[in-house]
Amino acid sequence: MKNLEKKVEKALEMVFNNYLNDDYMYAIFKTFLIKRVKKEIYNGFNFLIKGKRDDGKREFFKVGVFFYKENIPFSFFYDFIDRVRLVIIKDKLQSEFIDKLEDIFLFIENTFSYGYLFQLLKEDKDWIREELRLFKGEDNPSILKPYILDHLIWTNKLIEDIKKLRTQPSIELNSRKCSFGQKLSKGHLDLIIGKNYCLRIEKIHDLIHEISNEIYFYIQKRSFKNLLIDYINLIKNVGRLINTISLSTAVLAEFEAKVDPLTGVLNRRSMDIILQNHFTISKVANTSFSIAMIDIDDFKKINDTYGHLIGDCILKEVVNKIKNVIRKSDLIFRYGGEEFLILFPYLDKEDLPKVLEKIRDVVSSKEFVCEDIKLKITVSIGGATFEENIESVKQLIKKADENLYKAKKTGKNKFII
Ligand code: GH3
Ligand code: MG
Ligand code: MG
Repeated sequence: MKNLEKKVEKALEMVFNNYLNDDYMYAIFKTFLIKRVKKEIYNGFNFLIKGKRDDGKREFFKVGVFFYKENIPFSFFYDFIDRVRLVIIKDKLQSEFIDKLEDIFLFIENTFSYGYLFQLLKEDKDWIREELRLFKGEDNPSILKPYILDHLIWTNKLIEDIKKLRTQPSIELNSRKCSFGQKLSKGHLDLIIGKNYCLRIEKIHDLIHEISNEIYFYIQKRSFKNLLIDYINLIKNVGRLINTISLSTAVLAEFEAKVDPLTGVLNRRSMDIILQNHFTISKVANTSFSIAMIDIDDFKKINDTYGHLIGDCILKEVVNKIKNVIRKSDLIFRYGGEEFLILFPYLDKEDLPKVLEKIRDVVSSKEFVCEDIKLKITVSIGGATFEENIESVKQLIKKADENLYKAKKTGKNKFII
């Protein structure tokens, strides 16, 4: 036994020295730091070789806590143990010693991981408590509050279970049955943040639940190395979940500020900004561009005859049809009720008629179908092109508006430029 102790001590010394001589490792893993737990590591090994498991456990638990507090990656310790293992195996040992040592190595990794995890849990609990406090606050009006709150509470309970090493979960493990999962599957969140974000959130949420299942398995097995790795992965994904939910609302709010909810085209506010920018650039660059004001003919009659829902449907369909005949780079704005403005970058006076005729034609040539009702729809269009004599966006719009008025006055279903 004395012999084994000597061999281990020699191996430890060798690995420590290797680290010291390896500039790269020295810089990255702060070898001087690990030197500070050298005593614990030596003592721990000696205790374990002598069969004093509880004493050994105490030492390596301390090393785990130390690693966490000093912010040394836990994988560094596993690497360290692997190196010691390699050095010892090169030594010719009796197989019974090899088995005994293998058992000790596993025990060390496990105890170390437990110490590291223990410290980590403590800090995460504080972090979650703080987040919960913020989220529960009266002055947090976010509609996503209940969704984020759900998972903070869920994570909080999971941490409590790990701390107490409970094998019976006090949380819902099934991702479809937890309160967040139920809200997800009912599609409430879809309405708030949209399908795309929901799918991403669902994926992360499923992953979190998958990991939590493993976590209870490892608690039962007292396999702390795996538990630590899984737990870190879980917390990372809880963070991702909360981030994605928060980000989705931010993106959505920005999107909503720009877009008309009924037709999905850009709203009047966006129009003012974009037109002004485009006007300024075109003036400086001396390029032309055109706009069109489009107004649905006799739209009031459609509303009066068939109701507003059919009217809304027509509005959406008009936009869809127009989108099919203009370029992707052309921008449609909802100017007002049943009026749209289109910006055609670089389109000059000569080519404008072709485009406007395409628009007039695509609307009028085929019947609209809205909830089994078939309707003929036409539009009147007033066009205008930015030229040298035009001083402002306002003036350009005024010109298009006047042309639209002329089109209305002279029979509708036509364009005038
Ligand atoms: P004209 O051919 O001269 O353009 O006649 P018009 O009936 O289309 O014009 P008017 O401006 O008198 O009526 C526009 C109508 O558009 C009145 C309004 O109720 C309707 N409208 C405006 N916004 C919406 C909307 O979002 N949905 C629905 N369904 N109707 C709308
Ligand atoms: Mg109209
Ligand atoms: Mg109108």
